[in-house]
Amino acid sequence: MFKSKISRRVVGSFLLLTVVSMALLGGYLLQFFYGEHMAQQTSELRRTAGVVEVLLQDVLLQDDDKQTAAAGTLSEKLQDITAQTGMRLTLIQADGTVLADSSEPASEMENHLERPEIQGALGQQEQDTAMRWSQTLSENMLYVAVPVYDEAGELRGIIRSSLPLRPIEDSYAHTRNAILLALIFTALLAVLAGLILAGRQIRPIRQMTEDAFCIIHGDLNKRLEIYTGDELEILAHTINQLTYKLSGKIREVTTAANERALILEHMDNGVLLLDAQGRIRLANRRAQAIFALRETDIGQSSIQALGSAQLSTAAREAAQSGEPQSFVLSCTVQQVKKTFSVFLAPFAEAERQQVLCVFHDISLLQELASRQAEFVSNAAHELATPLTSISGFAETLLEDDFSSPEQSRKFLAIIHREAQRMNRLVSELLQLARLDRQDYQQQIAVECMDCTGLPALVRQRLLPQVTEKKQQFLIAAEDVPACIEANPDLVLQILINLAENAIKYTPEGGTITISCRTEADMVCFSVRDTGIGIAPENLPRIFERFYRVDKARAGGGSGLGLSLVQFLVKLFDGSISVESQLRVGTEFILHFPRVA
Ligand code: ADP
Repeated sequence: MFKSKISRRVVGSFLLLTVVSMALLGGYLLQFFYGEHMAQQTSELRRTAGVVEVLLQDVLLQDDDKQTAAAGTLSEKLQDITAQTGMRLTLIQADGTVLADSSEPASEMENHLERPEIQGALGQQEQDTAMRWSQTLSENMLYVAVPVYDEAGELRGIIRSSLPLRPIEDSYAHTRNAILLALIFTALLAVLAGLILAGRQIRPIRQMTEDAFCIIHGDLNKRLEIYTGDELEILAHTINQLTYKLSGKIREVTTAANERALILEHMDNGVLLLDAQGRIRLANRRAQAIFALRETDIGQSSIQALGSAQLSTAAREAAQSGEPQSFVLSCTVQQVKKTFSVFLAPFAEAERQQVLCVFHDISLLQELASRQAEFVSNAAHELATPLTSISGFAETLLEDDFSSPEQSRKFLAIIHREAQRMNRLVSELLQLARLDRQDYQQQIAVECMDCTGLPALVRQRLLPQVTEKKQQFLIAAEDVPACIEANPDLVLQILINLAENAIKYTPEGGTITISCRTEADMVCFSVRDTGIGIAPENLPRIFERFYRVDKARAGGGSGLGLSLVQFLVKLFDGSISVESQLRVGTEFILHFPRVA
C-alpha cells in the first residue's frame, strides 16, 4: 500500500495535519491549565496570608522586641493554621529575620531579606511570588509574600505562605500524558483514514493505468471503464476518445503505408533508398532480386552491393543539388552484364538527406538495339557479296563482244546462281521478319499431325541432291502414330533444312539418317550425318543468325537456316539440341510434346 506515492502523500498529509494541530492544541491547553492552576494556588496563598495577617495583627503591629518575645506563641499559631490549610507559613521581620515558621524553628533559619518573594513584597522586585527549591523542605515550592504595615504606614513585617509544587507538577504531567496519548491515537486514526481514502483514489487510477498499458501495447479496442463520477471519469472518457481517434488515424496511416509497400514490392522496377553517403536504407523485392541483395547488405554501401561506384557518386550529387537526376548504369550482376536507366529523386526526411533510386532494366532493349544493328549490317553484307558478283559479271558481259559463247554462258550461269542465292537470302530474311511478328505467329494454322511419314517425305524431296553426291539416305520411323500440335509445312521445312545441311556438310559417299520415334510424352526427330562435324567451340554459336563455321565451305549458305529452324521449333513448344564430333559426324535432335 505504501508503495504508492499517492498513498504516502495522502497519509503523510493527514498525519502531519493531525500531529501539528493536536500538538499545538495540546501545548496550548497544557499551558492554559498549568497557568490557571498556578494562579489559583497563588491566590489561595495570598488569601491565607491575609487571614494570618488578620489573626496575628496584634503581635505583628508591635515593635521588633515585642515580636521576638512572642515568637514562640506565633510559631504555635502558625502550626495550627498550617494543620488546617496544608500551607507552610513564615513570619519575617522588616529586616529579614525569620520570626516564626510553621515547619522549622525560626532560630535555625537564615535571614530571608534577599529572597525574591520578600524583595517583591518590599517593592524591590515586580513579583511577590517565587518558585524554587526549598533547602529546608527539600522540594519545589511556590512562595507568596505579603507585607504588613502599621497605621502610620511603616513596614512591620512580612507574611510568607508557601505550598509544595508537586501536586501542580503531577497534574501537569498527567494532563501532558493524556494529551500525548490522544495525539498518538489520533495519529493512528489519521493514518487509517488516509489509507482508506488513498485506496479509494488509487483503485480507479490503477485500473486506468492497466487499461492504458493495454492500449500502449497495441490493443486499440480497449476502453477505460471508470465510473467514479469525478474528474477521473472525465479523464477516462477523454482518453477513450483519444484512443478512438488514434486508432482511426493509425488505421488510415497503416492502410496508406500498406498500399505504398504493396506497390513498392510488386513494382516491376527495382527501387533502392540510399542515404546521402550512398548507403542502402531500403530495397524492394525486385531490387533485391536484381542485385542479389541479402539482409546484411541493408545499411552497407551501394558500392559493395552493386560492385559499382557510379550509383553512390550520382546519389551524393543528387543529395547535394537537391535536384532529380537520371543516368544509365552498366554493371555486372551475378556475372551477367546489365544496363539500367536509373532515376534519382533526392528528398529530406527528419533533416536527413535520402535519395530514392528507381531502376529500369534496359538490358533487353539495348541488346535488341545492338542485335538489330548487327542484323542490318550482316544482312547488308550478305546481300553485298552476290550483288558485287552479279554487277562484276554483268559489266564483263556488257564489255564482251560475245566472241566466246561458252564463256558468256558461264558468266550468265554465275549471275543466275548469285541471283538465286540473293533470292533465297531475301526470302529467308522475310520469313524471319514475318515470324518475329506476334500477329503472324498467331495466324499460323496449327493442327494435330502425325509425324511418322515425314522422314520418307524429306528423302523424296531431297533425292536428287543425295543421288548427285552419291550419299546414302536412311530413314527410321516407328509404326505407332506420333502426333504433335504443329503446322505440317513448317515442321517439314525444319526437317528439310536440317537434312539439306547434312547433305551439304557430308562428303560424297557419306550417310544421312533421319528418324522419328516416340519417347514417353515426346515425339523425337533425329537428323544424323557422317559429315565434317562441328568443333566444340563453334557448337554454341551455330544457331545465331548469319553464323557460319567456315564461310568458304558453306557452299553459298547464308547462316540463317539453323536460326530459322530453332525459331520454328520453339514456336511449337519443342526443343533442339546438337551433338557433333569433328570428321565423324553431326546429329540434330528435336523434341516436341506428344498429343496422342
Ligand atoms: P548455312 O546456311 O550456312 O548452312 P545454317 O544456319 O544452316 O547456315 O548453319 C550454320 C552453320 O552450322 C553452317 O555454316 C555450318 O558451318 C554449320 N552446320 C550446320 N549443319 C551442319 C552439319 N550437318 N554438319 C556440319 N556443320 C553444320
